[in-house]
Amino acid sequence: MNFHIMTLFPEMVIQGLNTSIIGRAMENNLINIDAVNIRDYAFNKHNKVDDYIYGGGAGMLMQAEPVYLCYEAIAERIRLSKSGGDETKKPRVIYLTPQGEVFSQKKAEELSREEDLILLCGHYEGIDERVLEEIVTDNISIGDFVLTGGELPAMMIVDAVSRLIPGVLNNDVSAEFESFQDNLLEYPQYSRPEVWHGKRVPEILLSGHHANIEKWRHEQAVIRTKERRPDLLKNKDNYPFTE
Ligand code: SAM
Repeated sequence: MNFHIMTLFPEMVIQGLNTSIIGRAMENNLINIDAVNIRDYAFNKHNKVDDYIYGGGAGMLMQAEPVYLCYEAIAERIRLSKSGGDETKKPRVIYLTPQGEVFSQKKAEELSREEDLILLCGHYEGIDERVLEEIVTDNISIGDFVLTGGELPAMMIVDAVSRLIPGVLNNDVSAEFESFQDNLLEYPQYSRPEVWHGKRVPEILLSGHHANIEKWRHEQAVIRTKERRPDLLKNKDNYPFTE
């Protein structure tokens, strides 16, 4: 899968992602991350990409043209890389914005089915609306708060999507049951030793009885979700062990 990240700070994105599991996935060519500097598409000699906001108000806005030229260059690269595919298909462009749909595991699963994703990071007060209208297919927020730029949100999306790509996690089973699957949080987990600070690992997990362990884990997932995220439990099918 190819992530194309449009940003004013490509080194921040690459340095942030180039470690551990995601770094290894890049090394093994399971994912490719291309961080493209929007400033390279500035059309003035000072490489300026922002300007004052019409109508007044504090701060600066990223101008439409450098963002558009940067997008065109990436879209062309994607088109050229498709031999025999649908070359007229417009790439999916995600604008990271506090005004978007809040990112979720479901959205990560949906995005993991794409071959190419363009992630557009804003900065300053954001980006000229006209270019957003022309190129953006999805608006995604990572929560109801405002950050200084879209780089951290883009990195979060790359991370969440990449770990769903086969081969990225060493053990594919570890993505099988996780928080948010079936709208449940994950059950509590334990590793060695059996007793730590006087606390014993629940006996059932040492029993070797897989069916009972699965049943216990599901019960615990429901209890935990009820305690911590009752809003997820709208679906009555998740209640079989507690009601
Ligand atoms: N003036 C904008 C508004 O009120 O909607 C906020 C601009 S913010 C200071 C600068 C950039 O950070 C945005 O263009 C966006 O790319 C990114 N950003 C900030 N908060 C975000 C969030 N919660 N989710 C995703 N991106 C965010």
